[in-house]
Amino acid sequence: MAVTQRLQKSWLFTRLVCYGCRIYFSTFRRNLSAKIAGLAAKPPKEPVDPSEVKTIVIVGAAFAGYYAAQTLASSLPRNGKYRVIVIEPHSHFNFTWVLPRFCVVEGHEHKAFIPYTPDFFANSPEGIVNWVRDRVVSVERHSVRLAGGDEIAYDFLIVATGSYVSDGLPSRVGADDKESGVELLRGMQARVKTANHIVVAGGGAAGVELATDAASQYPDKSITLVHSRSAVMHRFGLELQTAALDALRELGVTVILEDKVVPGSADGKCITLTSGKTIECDCFINCTGQKPASDIITGLAPKAISPSGHIKVKPTLQIADDTLPNVYVCGDVAETHESNPNSRIASRQAQVAADNVVLAVRGKTPKHTYTPKFGDGVIKLTLGLDRSITHFWDGKSELSFPGKETDLALMCDGAWSAVATTPFEDTGVYKGETVTPASLKLSKAIEEV
Ligand SMILES: Cc1cc2nc3c(=O)[nH]c(=O)nc-3n(C[C@H](O)[C@H](O)[C@H](O)COP(=O)(O)OP(=O)(O)OC[C@H]3O[C@@H](n4cnc5c(N)ncnc54)[C@H](O)[C@@H]3O)c2cc1C
Repeated sequence: MAVTQRLQKSWLFTRLVCYGCRIYFSTFRRNLSAKIAGLAAKPPKEPVDPSEVKTIVIVGAAFAGYYAAQTLASSLPRNGKYRVIVIEPHSHFNFTWVLPRFCVVEGHEHKAFIPYTPDFFANSPEGIVNWVRDRVVSVERHSVRLAGGDEIAYDFLIVATGSYVSDGLPSRVGADDKESGVELLRGMQARVKTANHIVVAGGGAAGVELATDAASQYPDKSITLVHSRSAVMHRFGLELQTAALDALRELGVTVILEDKVVPGSADGKCITLTSGKTIECDCFINCTGQKPASDIITGLAPKAISPSGHIKVKPTLQIADDTLPNVYVCGDVAETHESNPNSRIASRQAQVAADNVVLAVRGKTPKHTYTPKFGDGVIKLTLGLDRSITHFWDGKSELSFPGKETDLALMCDGAWSAVATTPFEDTGVYKGETVTPASLKLSKAIEEV
């Protein structure tokens, strides 16, 4: 390796370590100040008039919305005048990271569904977080409409609806309750197990992980990965592209580049590509087509939807529409031009949006801004059941750390612990502080409009 290249890598490594330390200390400082605020807080002396209560509605409870709810619940003034309402159709937090693995490996599927729990809000005043299990179908200027037909008024709104795929697994589960999700994963495992010729469309992270897992679990099956670009993992550096391609080929996966599967062409025996090629296929798995879930905003703020379907935002993460200063957007659905949207970014954005809402309720101007950070591009990619590569690329130089994997469940116990839940104890569907929309009163500010 040339000396300049070696120096560049060392410099990159140093910056990466500093980035990690900065993130760790800023999270530590934030958590500490929230804890101190909690200890110092006194409950309101007199009962609060319900019409004075201001409502912050959060749509979606995953890496962005669930963390926004936690930040708000621990930071809003503790005078009984605020409530947070989370609206989420899923019975459990869907942990996306493990979905490609659990589409292949049997016996761990329940671990992808982490129960929502009041313990996540342990450092918050009792009753501040309210939960509505439903789906928002549209957003109006002062309220949201639910699929169940009800309407919930808001003073502030945080949209954290993430991404969706119409085909469900392996990128999203495609069901709202855990039982159906577990069944869908088992169904996919059975399809993979009984197939002879598997075709995977999409050479991004989900496609590469699923194809390499399937090939290492079932070395005798024919597995083909079809990708439209000239390289798999094309959004990342050359080292990762090469490592992924090498791993696929070593495991016997046939990789077809610069071609696409013709939608609807899978007939149970074969599949057709746009080049006209036909491949044997008795199991087709689509790992493409992830889209931002911005539909609920299109009626209210059509100009804020970008050509890619993301919701345009200001640096404060307020929606890019000056008439809606009380609407914030964070996570995968926000247009923040990330090359590698991921959970760390979603949670960091959630914190910015929530911190700005806290300023706004105090009558101050939102001043926290989100800027993409060096280090956001780190990715850990599994390349079969027993190995992975952690990769970082800053657009010029890159660092790769090959690793051995020993846990088939990809250490998802850590994710359970991170959201205050004992791995893998399912406490059931979150019912604490559940509200029915009919029991909610409009806040005074809204009634007056
Ligand atoms: C297969 C796969 C593997 C991944 N692996 C990693 C990884 O290893 N590391 C990493 O950092 N990132 C990973 N990611 C990326 C990561 O999952 C996303 O960046 C992250 O989930 C974004 O979080 P979010 O909260 O913005 O959106 P989402 O996770 O998409 O969640 C959105 C939430 O909003 C809810 N919602 C949607 N519409 C509505 C509505 N109308 N009303 C009410 N609620 C609604 C949904 O039910 C959902 O709970 C992976 C992604 C995939 C697909």
